[in-house]
Amino acid sequence: MGSVTSRGPRMEAQVVMMGLDSAGKTTLLYRLKGHQPVKTLPTVGFNVEPLDMPGHVSLTLWDVGGQSRLRASWKDYLEGMDILVYVLDSTDEARLPEALAELAAVLDHPHMASVPFLVLANKQEAPDALPLMEIRARLGLERFQGHSWALQACSALTGVGLPEALQSLGSLLRSRSHHVSR
Ligand code: GDP
Repeated sequence: MGSVTSRGPRMEAQVVMMGLDSAGKTTLLYRLKGHQPVKTLPTVGFNVEPLDMPGHVSLTLWDVGGQSRLRASWKDYLEGMDILVYVLDSTDEARLPEALAELAAVLDHPHMASVPFLVLANKQEAPDALPLMEIRARLGLERFQGHSWALQACSALTGVGLPEALQSLGSLLRSRSHHVSR
């Protein structure tokens, strides 16, 4: 998988991807793995997928179901994670407060102290998607002191924004490796 190079530091990273149900996590996962969008079933439990990135960064994505009965088990998957990718459905204005509350709960966990996070405002190609500026204002991510973070608009359906999302992911991981010796 090219996760270790002879010259560079060990760049293997554990990524946890979360979000409410139907945010688009499974679709994103398939997109990032270079598959065509697939018709997905609601996530039950989680998937673990290796993902090769440029620069020999090897990532494992954990797709944890957002159904309420599963949310209590999120904390079981947080230990040893290097970065959180949090997927938002930009068309689901009604559940934006709930999505933000869940993000806050995850970041509040001791295992997540100083772990950077990337919020993906997914489904941005949809006509009824909230604009990124509005999502940014509503989330107020500045409140999460002690974490590096980034917010990226994307569409798992069209692939728009995904190269930028991977770039942000890489930058956040690099910022973390400066602070933490692994
Ligand atoms: P999960 O529950 O977070 O894994 O969400 P899924 O990947 O199963 O997606 C839920 C629904 O949203 C499916 O019908 C997807 O086709 C749809 N979806 C996912 N990503 C996008 C997107 O970028 N744009 C649009 N319009 N629909 C999307």
